Amino acid sequence: MEQFAKPGEFCPNEACPDYGQLQNGQQQNLQKFGKTRKGVQRFRCQTCGRTFTETTGTIFFRKRTPEHEILETLALLAEGSRISSLTRAKGFKEDTILAWLRQASQHAEALDEVLLKDFQIKRGQLDALWAYVQHKGQKKATQKRK
Ligand SMILES: [Zn+2]
Repeated sequence: MEQFAKPGEFCPNEACPDYGQLQNGQQQNLQKFGKTRKGVQRFRCQTCGRTFTETTGTIFFRKRTPEHEILETLALLAEGSRISSLTRAKGFKEDTILAWLRQASQHAEALDEVLLKDFQIKRGQLDALWAYVQHKGQKKATQKRK
């Protein structure tokens, strides 16, 4: 089962030789690197020199599909594309997209930042997307969103 890693547990730079390597006794390419103005922990990869925050690269760790493809798919969904048209256009299975959505909704806060900033998705579109996932997944909306 593919899984999510916690923030700061691996380098999210796909071009980095240590990309996706979880930190442990032998693997220690990441170091804490101050905090952002909002108080979010920042990390620096000593291998590639890239800095990133807790909210970077946490989303689709070790997925077969590149992260940007998944994010783009989520962005298109947020903008109102239908899953059925995305399966045709991109060749992903409907189940795959739904699985991404379900997992993404559990990381909604981290994803919000990426989708709002990098994909220029509007707040309301994101809220609608997460609401859609909850509706699709469980009938009971147990997760409270700010
Ligand atoms: Zn790196």
